[in-house]
Amino acid sequence: MPAAKTPEREMASPDILIVGAGVAGLSLATALGREGFHVTVIDGASRPQSPTANRAIADWDLRVSALTPTSIAFLESLGAWSAIPSNRTGCYTGMRVWDGHGSGRIRFDASDVNAPYLGHIVENRLTLQALLQCAETCPGVDVLWECAMDTMTHTNSGWDIRCQDGLSFCAPLTVGADGARSRVREWAAMPTRQWSYDQSAIVGTVALTSHHQDACWQAFLDTGPLALLPLADEDKVAIVWSLDELQHEQIAALSDEAFLSALNRALGCDAPEAVAVGPRASFPLRQSHAIDYVDQGLVLVADAAHSIHPLAGQGINLGLSDVRVLAEELTAGKVKGLTVDSPVLLRRYQRQRKTENLAMMAAMEGFKRGFGSQQPLAVMARNVGLGLVDQQAWLKRWFMGQALS
Ligand SMILES: Cc1cc2nc3c(=O)[nH]c(=O)nc-3n(C[C@H](O)[C@H](O)[C@H](O)COP(=O)(O)OP(=O)(O)OC[C@H]3O[C@@H](n4cnc5c(N)ncnc54)[C@H](O)[C@@H]3O)c2cc1C
Repeated sequence: MPAAKTPEREMASPDILIVGAGVAGLSLATALGREGFHVTVIDGASRPQSPTANRAIADWDLRVSALTPTSIAFLESLGAWSAIPSNRTGCYTGMRVWDGHGSGRIRFDASDVNAPYLGHIVENRLTLQALLQCAETCPGVDVLWECAMDTMTHTNSGWDIRCQDGLSFCAPLTVGADGARSRVREWAAMPTRQWSYDQSAIVGTVALTSHHQDACWQAFLDTGPLALLPLADEDKVAIVWSLDELQHEQIAALSDEAFLSALNRALGCDAPEAVAVGPRASFPLRQSHAIDYVDQGLVLVADAAHSIHPLAGQGINLGLSDVRVLAEELTAGKVKGLTVDSPVLLRRYQRQRKTENLAMMAAMEGFKRGFGSQQPLAVMARNVGLGLVDQQAWLKRWFMGQALS
């Protein structure tokens, strides 16, 4: 089947080829298109349909993201934030975190740091649709659907990309924005540290008996973290329930009624009660980090470069920061007369992003290990630790600074 092209336009020979039209690929295409680069984006999937505006429990996307103010500002600068219906985003002003194994709990509020809010919970399909509108109307950007990259070979003029439908591309710079199982990273043989958490996450929409209080709720349980993320409807939350494989198999197989009982038991009396659940899905959880994000004429962004445990909800925020920094470096390079594949530019991007991504991944790993232990001493230490942080205004402000960026 021929690749589905966006509205009738002549396709210019691209300066930059982006593999993957997810949130990362489309935001990068828009950011670069606005700076006068010619960009082609290819994606193996079909063009996403316009999402429904219905609000029944089954109508919400199973995949949501907690977008930080920094990510929102970047989406705003691309024109994408205003294209997301505001009655569909859950603005949250608080976070409630507790240890399911003890009495330790901590409460963060936007007012502690004089911020109007901490973030917005947004359905992934809405972020994607908004970015697609921006990319498709941006001069210099072409988005091709049903165009899966099949092979990649390095040549003197760039990477020669062959697609399953027979199309081929060779641009001075190729960007891998093709997600956690990146074929670009694989074909370029870029060494990557990766490991499985031996956990899967159940995601779904849940209705509550009471208001979610515009707060994200996160319990650290023996079996893994459980998060309730507030949706735009005050009685609905998205859940991300990470579970060790054995428990995951058992809980994923439960009927809706039994699932709700298990969920309420897990939440205890620290969170609002769940009364209904929509369709559910599961994702295996893996952490991966490419040793290098760049190679000759090649660069990785977002999940293609790094994917982390969803417990901090930082995945797409780190990805959007990669995109912003790469777009800034390429634009600054253009002003100085550097080519898009300039190793100086690509290394500058890598230096900036690797430091921040590694720090966040190490912090998440620490949390995961610290809260994964049921040793009495570890349980006591983290309960005392949570209590201490809760009482220290400066420490709370530091944690919130991390969550807001
Ligand atoms: C359970 C779970 C909960 C999460 N919750 C959060 C959260 O609360 N907050 C948050 O920030 N992040 C969260 N994340 C992470 C977030 O979803 C990812 O970081 C984000 O989707 C990555 O975006 P991306 O554009 O890099 O990749 P993707 O969204 O994976 O997009 C990659 C694109 O590449 C295309 N593609 C792949 N291979 C090819 C090929 N060979 N040829 C052409 N196209 C190809 C795919 O079709 C796809 O469209 C969560 C993840 C999980 C698993």
